[in-house]
Amino acid sequence: MKYFTIDEFTRSEAAKKLKIDNTPTKEAIENLNALVDNLLDPLRELYGKPIFVNSGYRSKKLNKAIFGAPNSQHMTGEAADIEGFDRSVKENKKLFELIKNSGLPFDQLINESNYSWVHVSYSKKKNRRQILNL
Ligand SMILES: [Zn+2]
Repeated sequence: MKYFTIDEFTRSEAAKKLKIDNTPTKEAIENLNALVDNLLDPLRELYGKPIFVNSGYRSKKLNKAIFGAPNSQHMTGEAADIEGFDRSVKENKKLFELIKNSGLPFDQLINESNYSWVHVSYSKKKNRRQILNL
């Protein structure tokens, strides 16, 4: 982990507000490290600018509270919602295209709500390179 910190992937306004514990499990920390080392750090180098992490790890309780998908990879520390340096649609789209065309390994890449943010995941088990527009 070169450009990111675990804290960026675990802090959550919702968790704070709802007083939900969002301390990552040992397994989640390992998965977050794999996500960053294999995908987000190399992506950061390609992009050349800071990447903003909106949401990373979510405890089961937090995921439920914010109506996350029941099988969400955020709960295992395998997924992150990211945005470009200025959090604009333009930069988010740039990140999405960069991931798509980079050849970097990923499991899922999702354009969320017309590039409001980009969901990306990396799994130590399988990386399907599945691309979705939601
Ligand atoms: Zn997500």
